[in-house]
Amino acid sequence: MRIETLAVQSTGGPDRASGAIIPPITLSTTFERAADGSYPGGFDYTRSGNPNRNALEAALATLEGGAVAAAFPSGTAATFGIVFSLLPGDHIVAPDDAYYGTAVLLRTLFEERGVEASFVDMTDLDSVAAAMRPNTKLVWIETPSNPLIRVSDIAALADIAHEGGAIAVCDNSWATPLLQRPIDLGADLVMHSTTKYLAGHSDAMGGAVMAKEENERFARIRRMQEAAGSVPAPFDCWLIRRGLESLAPRMAMHCANAMEIARFLEAHPKVEAVHFPGLENDPGHEIASRQMRDYGGMLAFDVPGGQAEAFAVTDGVRIFARATSLGGTHSLIEHRASAEGPTSQAPQNLLRLAVGLEHPDDLKEDLDRALLAAFG
Ligand SMILES: *Cc1c(COP(=O)(O)O)cnc(C)c1O
Repeated sequence: MRIETLAVQSTGGPDRASGAIIPPITLSTTFERAADGSYPGGFDYTRSGNPNRNALEAALATLEGGAVAAAFPSGTAATFGIVFSLLPGDHIVAPDDAYYGTAVLLRTLFEERGVEASFVDMTDLDSVAAAMRPNTKLVWIETPSNPLIRVSDIAALADIAHEGGAIAVCDNSWATPLLQRPIDLGADLVMHSTTKYLAGHSDAMGGAVMAKEENERFARIRRMQEAAGSVPAPFDCWLIRRGLESLAPRMAMHCANAMEIARFLEAHPKVEAVHFPGLENDPGHEIASRQMRDYGGMLAFDVPGGQAEAFAVTDGVRIFARATSLGGTHSLIEHRASAEGPTSQAPQNLLRLAVGLEHPDDLKEDLDRALLAAFG
């Protein structure tokens, strides 16, 4: 079956008890035990397993082409679960423009516990190879990246990881399995903030780890759920799985809208640069065209000046909401540098757009109005 069909069919068939086409939400934390001590329904306690979580995990593993998946209460918890499978003395190679929260996690909690990370430019394969050490156990890949929407070569990075005896992990939150399939390209693990496009409506928080193989490393990650209690709520699992059903048409529209807006901004006299791999002259265009089915719904652009001018633009929008995050139906605009704070690497004159599902002409008119109000 094709991924569009798999996404819709991720309900796993009608509910056996009621015949419901759409699965019910199982909020019960505890499940009945038979006289012989067994659990006829296959569940004992929701921290160890829940029908909604299991359904979500099965769907995510299928969509990413993995053997197995573990769902977490946030993308960050999923990242924590993966990195926690390393031991003190192990080393990680990570992107210098990794998602801000991932970098914070590596620089604080893990560094304090003896897991060291080197941050490198993932678009420069030589510097990635040079950063590998005998104790490097994991290469973290995130493409397209934040906030410059840079594209790195998953297959080449996975090769470097494997040659060095490390595993390759890809944060696929921005591309989704619809646009990019890291396991097919050589990644061992895929991580998601399901909060974003997979849930798709900015109303549920979640994360997930998908593994190519169900091995000892995955068992360590799985232990984070049951033994460390890092479990998502049944209702959130239900919402996120429901989001998968409309993933394909939503992604198609996010991508088409982003492409239109990128072309509009590229031609706009008040825009200095547009960062979007769909544009032919973008540094990521060639790799993205090879490794992605479409270019995604995230873009960034530079305005003349600095923070004051960027804020003047965000002040002028009426349809875009000034807010962080991505992957929902609403278009969002964000000044990343001030959102991330003093250690941010984002340029002060950069604005990031998470393009939503409104009509593209309305979005273009909104940006045009804001740019003209800011720059006359
Ligand atoms: C949002 C995001 C995360 C973190 O996920 P949460 O669900 O917010 O914890 C990680 N990676 C990327 C690329 C993200 O966009």
